[in-house]
Amino acid sequence: MQELVVASRNAGKIREIEALIEGIRLLSLDDIGFTTETEEPYETFEENALTKAQAVYNYCGKNVLADDSGLCVPALNGAPGVHSAYFGGLPRSDEKNNQQLLAQLEGIADRSAFYKAVICLIWEGNPYFFVGICEGKIAAEPSGEGGFGYDPLFIPKGHEITFGQLPATVKNTLSHRGKAVQKMVAFLKDQVNAS
Ligand code: IMP
Repeated sequence: MQELVVASRNAGKIREIEALIEGIRLLSLDDIGFTTETEEPYETFEENALTKAQAVYNYCGKNVLADDSGLCVPALNGAPGVHSAYFGGLPRSDEKNNQQLLAQLEGIADRSAFYKAVICLIWEGNPYFFVGICEGKIAAEPSGEGGFGYDPLFIPKGHEITFGQLPATVKNTLSHRGKAVQKMVAFLKDQVNAS
């Protein structure tokens, strides 16, 4: 059976992918003994995901996937973007990030935004990219306890309430990460069927 290392320490992400893939054995970073924290130093999600995937590939030589994601606000020239995790400064906190976002959007009418997720898959030595986008807008104030990160401020297109208020099942069907994973799974199914 083919093996695939998921370059993430997030058990939720690994389970989400596991539920969608058959015929491939998923391995975690712990399974392969990879303990290094990889940096995300670049200005694009693609470069950050590729760098993480390559670090693990160079270590173990196995098929590997890594992802990078964040919130992009066109009226803020794409910020927070790749800096989403620490937009409000260090030490990072979701609350500080959300306050920073609201402060920067004060007086700006265009509150459109999108989440973006990029998965880099290194499969049999070659890199492939899968992108998922979830469009929406930024609310005037945080609402809801669900999700994480910017979810209390993010109202997905077609809804009037935030990801923080919507059930997780709804978020999962709309989310940027879910869409990127689905595209990667379609690719992997073709690979497994062809082998
Ligand atoms: P990473 O891809 O796990 O490095 O995520 C980067 C940052 O983007 C997170 O710390 C969050 O601030 C933000 N982010 C990414 N995906 C989501 C999401 O689904 N909801 C809320 N915030 C997110």
